[in-house]
Amino acid sequence: MVSETSYKSKNVCVIGAGPSGLVAARELRKEGHKVVVLEQNHEIGGQWLYQPNVEGEDPLGRNPSLKVHSSIYESLRLMSPREIMGFRDFPFMVKKGRDTRRFPNHTELLNYLKDFCEWFGLREMIRFNTRVEYVGMLDYGVCSNNDLKWVVRSIEKKSEKVMQEVFDAVVVASGHYSHPRLPSLKGMDTWNRKQMHSHIYRSPEPFRNEIVVVVGNSFSGQDISLELVKVAKEVYLSSRSLNITEGLSNVLSKHENFHLHPQIDTLHSDGKVTFVDGSSVSADTILYCTGYSYSFPFLDTKGMVVVDDDRVGPLYEHTFPPSLAPSLSFIGIPRKIIGFPFFESQAIWIAQALSGRKVLPSWEDMMKSIKEFYHSREVAGIPKHCTHDIADSEYCDKYAERVGFPPLEEWRKEICTSGIVNYIANLETYRDCWDDNEKMKIQEALQSPHFTQFGLKDSSL
Ligand SMILES: Cc1cc2nc3c(=O)[nH]c(=O)nc-3n(C[C@H](O)[C@H](O)[C@H](O)COP(=O)(O)OP(=O)(O)OC[C@H]3O[C@@H](n4cnc5c(N)ncnc54)[C@H](O)[C@@H]3O)c2cc1C
Repeated sequence: MVSETSYKSKNVCVIGAGPSGLVAARELRKEGHKVVVLEQNHEIGGQWLYQPNVEGEDPLGRNPSLKVHSSIYESLRLMSPREIMGFRDFPFMVKKGRDTRRFPNHTELLNYLKDFCEWFGLREMIRFNTRVEYVGMLDYGVCSNNDLKWVVRSIEKKSEKVMQEVFDAVVVASGHYSHPRLPSLKGMDTWNRKQMHSHIYRSPEPFRNEIVVVVGNSFSGQDISLELVKVAKEVYLSSRSLNITEGLSNVLSKHENFHLHPQIDTLHSDGKVTFVDGSSVSADTILYCTGYSYSFPFLDTKGMVVVDDDRVGPLYEHTFPPSLAPSLSFIGIPRKIIGFPFFESQAIWIAQALSGRKVLPSWEDMMKSIKEFYHSREVAGIPKHCTHDIADSEYCDKYAERVGFPPLEEWRKEICTSGIVNYIANLETYRDCWDDNEKMKIQEALQSPHFTQFGLKDSSL
């Protein structure tokens, strides 16, 4: 415990009211900090606040400031089952009258987040329709790290009123599935048919009877292709590797208008698309499902945090920039993890580092740890742009241990793994069919303290 004299209550600005920002706000307030959450949208939810209207957004999303945050499409159902999604003390329960499926539609997750917000009374901390335009250090070069303060300039979108405020600390929870990561293809700048990124894809109807080349064979590329084949004339999935999963192979063999191709070599001005194996098609649309880049257009750290080929750094444990810690922190940066409980453990650490309950290692030790981490990734052959792809539940447990956050429940890890296995083998059905082993795991989950902590009266499980 920190003594009363060394305990510090800080004036903290959280940027974003998505899952990361919401749990950050809760933990910061619990730790005794004064919290303001600035959210550019009219409602909480982040990615889960579906935005049907994408008019006015650059189809390739190349503007540093995007108009649309959410990249969720109309039909999207969760890729991860509901049991593993919930924050540790707030299970993602089935509720009567809502989407009760294990892999529900995106609206159900938004409903969960609204419930979370109401249960913990978080709304009063959030200033909606307020877009952060600038975050920088006050009196840069004059203050020591301990006295750092942050200037936050925001704009209230309706009145266009600009506000400038000073905070002791800023928590960046602005998400990273909005700014398209695009390949660099020969002819891309001069191709004059339709090109767009999945960031603004909403439904298959506009592609009826079209010949569409979908670039990228990961989750979105596959999911979107599956609905496009029902309306488009032809769908060509362009994949870096032709070594594909059993599930995708089955789908390809079922649909005559669905084809697998290698990477694109050139886009020609007459609409022809040539692939690296010499094959070609004449296409109406190129749809890039090539993922997203980290981007913090509002953040001025004088070069102390940079995004280099999707490595946000240097960040100690993906959270604190050593030169600016703990007054600047990031939450939600890691990918390929069970997100919500991890964000929760990050939020606790940030709150405790700011209050003084937890002391961070020295600058030298944090930098050493970051360098060692980068080195281990390089040795393992992991490209720089995958720096924050964790894919390791043990890492999440070790991370949480330092703040006394319990390790992930075994059933959560097992359901996550079996869900991925099912997805790989049964691309079209994994969200609706599972085997007896999975059913046992689900029962175990539902009987665990995570699900029974509020009783089951609200749930029709
Ligand atoms: C297509 C798709 C499918 C996905 N499926 C799953 C899934 O099945 N399971 C899963 O766990 N995850 C999934 N995800 C990942 C999803 O992004 C995370 O679940 C989660 O939303 C991350 O939360 P976050 O709060 O870090 O970021 P976000 O949810 O992106 O929230 C960030 C918030 O910050 C706000 N913001 C940004 N910039 C500013 C600014 N300058 N000023 C003010 N506010 C700002 C935004 O408006 C937003 O509200 C999916 C993502 C996508 C795109």
